[in-house]
Amino acid sequence: MQDPADSESLLASDEPPAVDWRAGSIDPFFFVCEHASNRVPRALGDLGLPSEAFERHIAWDPGAAQLTLGLAERFGGAAVLQRYSRLVIDCNREPELPDAITPLSEDTPIPGNQGLGEDERRGRIAAIWAPFHAAVDRLLNARVAARKPTALVTIHSFTPVYRGVSRPWHVGIISTGDRRFAEPMLAALSREAGLVVGDDQPYSARDNVDYTIRRHGRERGLPHVMIEVRNDLLRTARDVSQWVERLGDALTESAGAVGLPGPIRV
Ligand SMILES: [Zn+2]
Repeated sequence: MQDPADSESLLASDEPPAVDWRAGSIDPFFFVCEHASNRVPRALGDLGLPSEAFERHIAWDPGAAQLTLGLAERFGGAAVLQRYSRLVIDCNREPELPDAITPLSEDTPIPGNQGLGEDERRGRIAAIWAPFHAAVDRLLNARVAARKPTALVTIHSFTPVYRGVSRPWHVGIISTGDRRFAEPMLAALSREAGLVVGDDQPYSARDNVDYTIRRHGRERGLPHVMIEVRNDLLRTARDVSQWVERLGDALTESAGAVGLPGPIRV
């Protein structure tokens, strides 16, 4: 019998591992995308949901993976992406929190997440959550040990309408108490006429969305920021490349503002 805490027990041998990563070759940007995918391990079936539920933001951040990969490519930067849905377990939460494996997402009950036993929770943490954060730790620790200049940038997308309320922002910059990278990002993006930029909107650390930037950025003393782009603005490859340009220019300027060496455009 397999130990449920065995990191391979939830994923079959022909399923991809939880972490998609590249070490990057050029400093300073390190990109992380926790909600990149809507895939569910076969062992969990469809979590009791119709297939269209997996196209919605409750399962993933549409467009965020393409945006993350586009930015990593522009800068030759490191990137770590999660290959499984946040409905399996949310990698931007402490795993012990009730909403890490949410029984209800927005107004949609998630049958496959209800009444889970401790072994089932531990199995998801071991197979999906733990290897993701271990990969970020390993890559960031190696960079810090090698004294490589590093800025941690997490990439998300948000739904234009949440619980019936329209959100006006095109992009949001989310910070921890350490705002040294968030402030120049806000300043750079706010100069674009017509662009509605949220400061700690549509979420903030008070909503418990700062796990990754706090654990991996703030606690290492690294400049860090979480970027949220409204997902209706990331529908096509052209949309994504425009955001790669816009955010890439703001990141370049912000790196200079905090004294990091200017990234080379590759
Ligand atoms: Zn997200």
